Amino acid sequence: RAALPGEQIRMRVYADDSLTTDERAALLQRPIVDSQEIMRRVQPIVDAVRTGGDAAVREFTARFDNVELDALVVRAPFDVPTLPTAVRAAIDQAYANVHAFHAAQLVGDTHVETMPGVMCSRFSRAIERVGLYVPGGTAVLPSTALMLGVPAQVAGCREIVLATPPRADGSIVPEVLYVAHKVGATAIVKAGGAQAIAALAYGTESVPKVDKICGPGNQYVTAAKMLAQNDTAAMVSIDMPAGPSELLVVADATSNPAYVASDLLSQAEHGPDSQVVLLAVALSDAQLAAIHAEVHRQAERLPRVDVVRRSIPKSFCLHLPSLSAALRFSNDYAPEHLILHNANARACLPDVVNAGSVFVGPYSPESCGDYASGTNHTLPTYGFSRMYSGVSSATFLKYITAQELSRDGLANIAQTVMTLAEVEELEAHRNAVAIRLQDM
Ligand code: NAD
Repeated sequence: RAALPGEQIRMRVYADDSLTTDERAALLQRPIVDSQEIMRRVQPIVDAVRTGGDAAVREFTARFDNVELDALVVRAPFDVPTLPTAVRAAIDQAYANVHAFHAAQLVGDTHVETMPGVMCSRFSRAIERVGLYVPGGTAVLPSTALMLGVPAQVAGCREIVLATPPRADGSIVPEVLYVAHKVGATAIVKAGGAQAIAALAYGTESVPKVDKICGPGNQYVTAAKMLAQNDTAAMVSIDMPAGPSELLVVADATSNPAYVASDLLSQAEHGPDSQVVLLAVALSDAQLAAIHAEVHRQAERLPRVDVVRRSIPKSFCLHLPSLSAALRFSNDYAPEHLILHNANARACLPDVVNAGSVFVGPYSPESCGDYASGTNHTLPTYGFSRMYSGVSSATFLKYITAQELSRDGLANIAQTVMTLAEVEELEAHRNAVAIRLQDM
């Protein structure tokens, strides 16, 4: 249960050597969400936007966001607001770092001569029209606009359409508008939730239809992305499934308790569903008590202490005897963010198999990756870092292969192809080679 005001804000504590297999498996689980129930609520919204277009989007925006919109879509060039100098400079610096890191991810074309005269190649093309969802229900999130917009810009997408819930007066958050301008967005849709996703997926009178939709959001946003992706009529793909944000911290006797607590809290303040895990490697009772005390002391001073009172008691600390046991647990948990506060943190990287993004050593708080260091913050949650990567420049690219065989190349490969075509009893395939061989 949530901690009451005045009560100690404290994580649950377990010891690895006294856990049964079932108890360990339970700690690796995320809270179960009733996705069927959410889908049942979201499907009618998606259907209404598909058939009703702009009018339906306006109606849901009035119902869920209490905003009566005039123009639903704002097109570039935008009326860029004047921001406080420090805010503008911070966005400019973050943009420069994120741009540098994502531009470096673009790899050149591949050319391989697999047999003499058989030339195979692969080259990338940007996905032409992309939709970027920037959440806005409970916070102002220009950082998410950056993390989605920069890789789309670097990849060279022709149309970049942002969607974000409008403010109470129907306007767009000025910092998001500034980022939209910097990343070369072509339009901004003033809508949020499932209705925004449906508008991007199917297109409306004023919202351009896109080929891929990326970005985090609440459960309605995620459900709408999944529904759109499963509808062949929408012909749209998504970046990844998403759930509440998570953090796993590895700490040992060398870790600074105040730093460890600050990282745990930076995640715990996101929302009551945030997942925070501390793996304590061979810590003494006194060392662990110091971390608990710091968590409580720092939490009490946060403006969002009420959120932390709910999220921290749901989180847990697990005692493990060794670093290798901790990394095994972390890989089984597959966290979105992994912070290594232990000694020789960098030497652990080869053993990290499942994680969205890793923060190495005492001076690498997650906040730096969330905002400005250069790495992306749109990352796989819920254990999906087992098989998904975070958003990157490649998210906005697809790869095309090509081949060119010379006359000699065809002669070299002919028998291999004809034999395999015979095995599969596809005579026309065999013949397409044989007919050319006859002329040689
Ligand atoms: P949101 O923009 O995702 O959702 C707000 C929209 O939800 C509203 O516009 C409204 O239309 C719709 N909505 C609200 N109540 C509804 C209802 N009852 N039925 C149908 N639709 C309804 O903003 P949020 O709610 O603040 O959620 C943001 C989420 O994004 C959080 O979970 C946060 O953790 C996550 N997030 C993740 C990252 C990341 O990179 N992982 C970054 C930023 C935010």
